[in-house]
Amino acid sequence: MLEYDDHVAVAVSGGKDSLTLLHLLVKLEERFPRSKLTAVCVDEGIEGYRNEALNLARDACTKLGVGQLVVSYRELFGTTTDEIARLKMDQTPCAFCGVFRRKAINKAADMIGATKIATAHNLDDEVQTVLLNMLHGDPLRIIRSGPVLKDPRGKFLPRIKPLCDIPEKEIVFYAYSTGLQFQSVACPHGHEALRNDIRAFLNQMNLKHPGIKFTLLRSAEKLRAQSEDPQLSELHECVKCGDPTPHDVCEACVMLEAITA
Ligand code: SF4
Ligand code: ZN
Repeated sequence: MLEYDDHVAVAVSGGKDSLTLLHLLVKLEERFPRSKLTAVCVDEGIEGYRNEALNLARDACTKLGVGQLVVSYRELFGTTTDEIARLKMDQTPCAFCGVFRRKAINKAADMIGATKIATAHNLDDEVQTVLLNMLHGDPLRIIRSGPVLKDPRGKFLPRIKPLCDIPEKEIVFYAYSTGLQFQSVACPHGHEALRNDIRAFLNQMNLKHPGIKFTLLRSAEKLRAQSEDPQLSELHECVKCGDPTPHDVCEACVMLEAITA
C-alpha cells in the first residue's frame, strides 16, 4: 500500500479508527525518513458533534508532531450537513455527507500535494459496504471500492485502507490500551438505517460463525481479482469537476445541483 517516499494524506475524523490509523502510520513513518504524513480533517458542519472531534484530532496531531489541514463543507460546497438535513431531501443526510466527505478529502489531499490518501475503514466497515452494495443493486461498486484503489493512468490519487482487515473490536482495544482520546458521541444525524441492520446481522452471524466477516472480505477480493482493470474501465473524470467517477458527472456534482435547485 505504501512506498518509502509517500506523502500520505491521512483522513482523520477524531474517531477511534482514524486516530488509531494515524498513530500506527506515525510509528511506521519513523522508519522511512523520506515519507511524510499530513492529517486531513473535514468539518461537515454538524453542531454539537464535529467540534469536539476536530479538537481531539488537533490535539492528537500536535502530540504526534503531524501537520494538519482542516477543510469545511461550508468553504468547499457553500453548505453544511446540518443545512442539508433541514432540506429533508429524499436521500438521508448521510448519503450527501459521505459523498461530500470523499470529495473534500480529495481536494485537501491535492492542496497538500499528497501522493496517497489513507482512510481508516476497518473490517466491519468493509464487509458492511459489500453487503450494502449488493442490497442497493450496485455490485460493481464492490469492485471499485477495494482496500487499494489505484488508477493505472495515474490521473487520480491512490486511496488505501490500511485497517481493512482489522476487526472494529480490535481497534477499540488498541485505542483504549494506548490511551488514545477519541470521540465517543454519536452523530445526531445517525447512520444509514440499512447499514445499521447489516451491522447487527453481521455481528450476530459472526457470533454463531466466527470468522465469517473475513470470509466475506476474501470473497470480495476474489471478485475484484476476476475483474480486468476495473478502475481503468470504470472510472473517468467528471465533466464538471474532474473527480474520478464511473458516470459522466460525479455523485457530488449531482447532489450539489439537487440541493441548490
Ligand atoms: Fe455525516 Fe452521516 Fe457520518 Fe453524521 S453519521 S458524519 S451525517 S456520514
Ligand atoms: Zn463532479
